[in-house]
Amino acid sequence: MSPASLDKPLTLALSKGRIFEETMPLLAAAGISVTENPETSRKLILRTSSAGLQLIIVRASDVPTYVQYGAADFGIAGADVLYEHAAAHPGALYQPIDLNIARCRLCVAVRTGFDYEAAVRQGSRLRVATKYVRAAREHFARKGVYVDLIKLYGSMELAPLVGLADAIVDLVSTGGTLKANNLMEVEEITAISSRLIVNKASLKMRGSGLQPLIDAFARASAGGT
Ligand code: ATP
Ligand code: MG
Repeated sequence: MSPASLDKPLTLALSKGRIFEETMPLLAAAGISVTENPETSRKLILRTSSAGLQLIIVRASDVPTYVQYGAADFGIAGADVLYEHAAAHPGALYQPIDLNIARCRLCVAVRTGFDYEAAVRQGSRLRVATKYVRAAREHFARKGVYVDLIKLYGSMELAPLVGLADAIVDLVSTGGTLKANNLMEVEEITAISSRLIVNKASLKMRGSGLQPLIDAFARASAGGT
């Protein structure tokens, strides 16, 4: 790496929405503020109050990819996204801290009135729609339930309502979206929160810049919950 690239600001990859919003207090704890708002700005590269740090705004599920290939030095992504990413790229990312932000749970939900327990007891083959195919496959394998998994990229709640699937595996926080769509949670698979992920080469080459930020995030997330 040339000296010039070592002078570049560190790049933190974030998705907009809840992860961006919940990361702002962690940056503030490190003395850094961000004036541009990704919800209103069309910019995908945002400066911060520190010349040494810039943000890039990418899809939640793309954050691990940017960090793995070093296009971002570090990033913040949900355990859900990291688990699916690790299926194809095990061990590719250093994951020093659970930031305890964007907390929710991964669960199985069905249409209100669908007798999930009976279907499982009877050994029925279930059609399950999800974005989280690895987590879903492993969950049903542990239970010994045969499933046909249908990969979706969003709006999972719709699938049981229109007969695409018997069940979905999706993230839930309040349960309001499930309820609004006549669905009910029948099983929790795991609790989810977001983690800091770091490019392994960046940590070696740019550790003096990265480590103080990692430490500040660790302190802020441990103290903030
Ligand atoms: P995209 O919009 O790009 O398809 P996404 O819907 O996963 O991605 P977000 O809704 O911003 O993007 O979710 C980002 C992360 O926040 C998820 O990966 C998950 O870890 C967490 N998350 C998702 N839904 C909730 C929720 N209802 N409450 C709290 N955290 C959530
Ligand atoms: Mg979402």
